[in-house]
Amino acid sequence: MGKIIANAKGEGRYKLLEHEAYDVLRVFGLPVPKAGLAKSAEEAVRLSESIGYPVVLKVVSPDIVHKSDVGGVIVGLNNSSEVREAFNKIFKNVGERAPNAKVYGILVQEMVPSGLEVIVGSTKDPTFGPLILFGLGGIFVEVLRDVSFRIVPLTHHDAENMINEIKSAKILEGYRGQAPRDKKALTEILIKLSKFVESVGEVKDVDLNPIMLYEVGKGAKIADARIILG
Ligand code: ADP
Ligand code: MG
Repeated sequence: MGKIIANAKGEGRYKLLEHEAYDVLRVFGLPVPKAGLAKSAEEAVRLSESIGYPVVLKVVSPDIVHKSDVGGVIVGLNNSSEVREAFNKIFKNVGERAPNAKVYGILVQEMVPSGLEVIVGSTKDPTFGPLILFGLGGIFVEVLRDVSFRIVPLTHHDAENMINEIKSAKILEGYRGQAPRDKKALTEILIKLSKFVESVGEVKDVDLNPIMLYEVGKGAKIADARIILG
């Protein structure tokens, strides 16, 4: 893990590449999807076959913050010809919409089942040090700003409280026929992220957006991870 961070810094990069972010988060027991970096369409096919279909392809670039805005994410690929086509399409999209971005390759990632999309993050406050943030995905965070914060280190109690205190917390209990969500898995993610930012001082910001949160007992899976070093 130290090697990944040292390598990024050595290249003058403050953003870990997405597969590097997963490798680091995995060390702390966070639920990351299977993924690998492909430099060619054939390599993408080989990776897809070892991961298992369906897969997702994503552009890997330190210069692109919102990958889907530049056509850099294609989900639901079921076979080798779809993977080859998507590989070339992402290069074409990014070439047109972000021509100056340095592209390291394409991430081939396990396509995880859809769930309730939640966001967990961390940022460094100049006075309080690292904070952990939680909210539900989509409009809940972006429009309604319905989020909760706690100072690191988080206790189990802190994590439970920050989940239950957002205004839209009822959605986690099951809403209009939706199943109740695995709050225990979510609590563990918050605590593990707190341990991660507490022990790796170089980390400035973390953005896990989205995390797919499943029914009670079924856990959660991180579908996108961004880690910025200080
Ligand atoms: P962006 O940089 O635009 O935030 P993401 O990696 O979050 O890109 O991908 C965009 C969307 O695609 C996600 O919000 C999620 O809904 C879906 N997605 C991304 N990765 C996966 C995956 N591995 N499995 C299932 N859905 C995914
Ligand atoms: Mg995202």
